[in-house]
Amino acid sequence: MTKKVVIIGAGLAGSIVAYYLHETTDITILTKGKRNESNSMLAQGGIASVIDPLDDKKDHIRDTLIAGAFHNDEKAVNFLVNEGPEVVKHLIDEGMAFDCDDKGNLDLGLEGAHSFSRILHAGGDRTGQRVTEFVQNKLNSRIKWIESAMATEWVTKEGRVVGLRYLDRDEQMKTLEADIFVLASGGVGQLFNVTSNDKNITGDGLAMTMRANGELMDLEFLQFHPTLLATEADVHPILISEAVRGDGAVLINDQEEQIMSGRHEKGNLAPRDIVSRIVFEHLKKGERIYLDISKVNDFEHHFPFITEYLQQIKYPYRETSKIPIQPGMHFMMGGVKTDLEGRTSLGNLYAVGEVACTGVHGANRLASNSLLEILAFGRSTALTINTQLSENKSVPKKAKSITVKKEVSLKLPDRSFLIDKATMTLGVVRNIPEIKSFLSWLSSYQFERLPETVNKEELEVANLSLVAQEIARATLNRHKSVGAHYLVEEKV
Ligand SMILES: Cc1cc2nc3c(=O)[nH]c(=O)nc-3n(C[C@H](O)[C@H](O)[C@H](O)COP(=O)(O)OP(=O)(O)OC[C@H]3O[C@@H](n4cnc5c(N)ncnc54)[C@H](O)[C@@H]3O)c2cc1C
Repeated sequence: MTKKVVIIGAGLAGSIVAYYLHETTDITILTKGKRNESNSMLAQGGIASVIDPLDDKKDHIRDTLIAGAFHNDEKAVNFLVNEGPEVVKHLIDEGMAFDCDDKGNLDLGLEGAHSFSRILHAGGDRTGQRVTEFVQNKLNSRIKWIESAMATEWVTKEGRVVGLRYLDRDEQMKTLEADIFVLASGGVGQLFNVTSNDKNITGDGLAMTMRANGELMDLEFLQFHPTLLATEADVHPILISEAVRGDGAVLINDQEEQIMSGRHEKGNLAPRDIVSRIVFEHLKKGERIYLDISKVNDFEHHFPFITEYLQQIKYPYRETSKIPIQPGMHFMMGGVKTDLEGRTSLGNLYAVGEVACTGVHGANRLASNSLLEILAFGRSTALTINTQLSENKSVPKKAKSITVKKEVSLKLPDRSFLIDKATMTLGVVRNIPEIKSFLSWLSSYQFERLPETVNKEELEVANLSLVAQEIARATLNRHKSVGAHYLVEEKV
C-alpha cells in the first residue's frame, strides 16, 4: 500500500519536499490560504549559491558564520553550502530559468555581507515566485491539495505524531492520518506591526509543536530587515530588497546625508541587524530615512515587482529617486529543532524551511541563504522520509480513535494590543525590564492549551501569544546581545 505523507504549507519548503516524494508516496498538502500565498512567493533577491568557478565554498561558509555571529551549527552550514548548489543545478537541468546576462551566463548578484556575487535571481526580483511555481508545476496531479485549511494541533501517541487536526474552509474540525507529517508552515512575521511576511504567517506550526512538547531552539533570534517601504498611506510595507543596495542604492536622511558613512566597513551592505539598528536610531530621533536610488542602473528593469507596486500605490519614486523605508520583522532564525535530515524530536514529524531550526543561520541569517536552506534540507528530508517509509513496516496508530479530554477555556488578549506590545518589546532593540513586564502581562491570559472547539481567529491569537511568550522567555535567557538579538543595558 502506498504510504501517506501530509505536508503543512505550500511555500517552497512544502513544495520541494513534495517534489522529491511525489513519485513514491501519497501526498496531501494542507495550506491556510491558496497554494500561491506564502512568504516564498514574496522572496525577491534570490538564492545564494556557489556556482561561479571563481567563487569559493569556504568564503560562503565564512560569510554565513560571520553573519550568524558564530552561533551557527558548523556542520549544518557546511551541508548548506555543499548540498544547496547541487539542488540548484538539478532545478536548472530540469528547466528552471534563472536570469542570465547578455552572454547567457548566470547573472549573479551581490547582497549584504556576502564577499562575492553569488545570488541567483529569476524574473528580476520575482525569484521566490518563479522558483516556487516552477517546483509546484512539476508536481503530479495525484497530489491532494487542501486549501483554506488551518492546521491546529498534532495528535500524538507515545512521543510520535499520528494525526493532524485542522479547521477546514467552513471552520469545521477534521483529522488527517498519515505515516509521516512534514511541517513547513513558515515563521511568525504577523506578530509584529511592520512585517514583510504574508498575512497567514502567524507562528501556527511553532505553537502546535510547543503544545505537543516538541523541541524548539533559538527563538530569540528574529531578523528585522532594514528596508521595508514606509509611506504614509495604509499599504503593505513591502520589502525593498537588499539587492537594490547591491546595485548602488544608499541610505540617506532628510538632509540627504548618508547614514551608513563611518558606521561599518561594508557601509550600506553591512549586516541587516546593524543597518536596522542604525535606521531605528534615526527614526527614533524623528528623522525619515530613504533609499536613494539615483545611482541604480535601470531600476525598473531589475526590480519589476517593486516598481509595479510603487506605481500601483502612486508613489512618486521617479521624481524624487527616493524610497522611504523602515525596519520590520522579516525572518525567524530559530524554530523547531531538526537535524540535517529534517527530523524533529517527535517521531514521524519532520520540519523544513523557516519553521525549522537547522542551526544554519545562527544568530542572524545571511541574505538569500533561506531559499538555499530550503532546497538543501528539503531534499535531504524527502530522501530520509523515503528511506524511513521503505524500512518502516509498522502500522500507524489511528489518530481518530485517540480522544483527548480537554476541559480548558481560552482567555485571549486583544490581537492588535498583543502585536503592539510584542513590537515594542521583542523588536530591533530590547530591554530586560520591558520583557519581564510583557511576560507578566501575558501571564494573565490563557492560551497554552486549546479547548475542543476553537475558531480560526481565536486560534491565531492563541498561537501568536504562545510564540510571543516563548520568544520573550528565550530573550531573557540570552543575557547578552548576539547577532540579531540586541539588548540595551538593564536599567533596574
Ligand atoms: C518579502 C520577503 C522577501 C524575501 N526574500 C528572500 C530572498 O530573496 N532570498 C531568501 O533566501 N529568502 C528570502 N526571504 C525569506 C524566504 O522567502 C522565506 O524564509 C521562505 O520562503 C520560507 O519558506 P517556507 O516554505 O518555509 O514558508 P512560507 O513560504 O512562508 O510558507 C508557509 C506556508 O505554510 C502555510 N501555513 C502557515 N500556517 C499554516 C497552518 N496553520 N495551516 C496550514 N497551512 C499553514 C502558509 O499558508 C504557507 O503556505 C524573503 C521573505 C520575505 C517575506
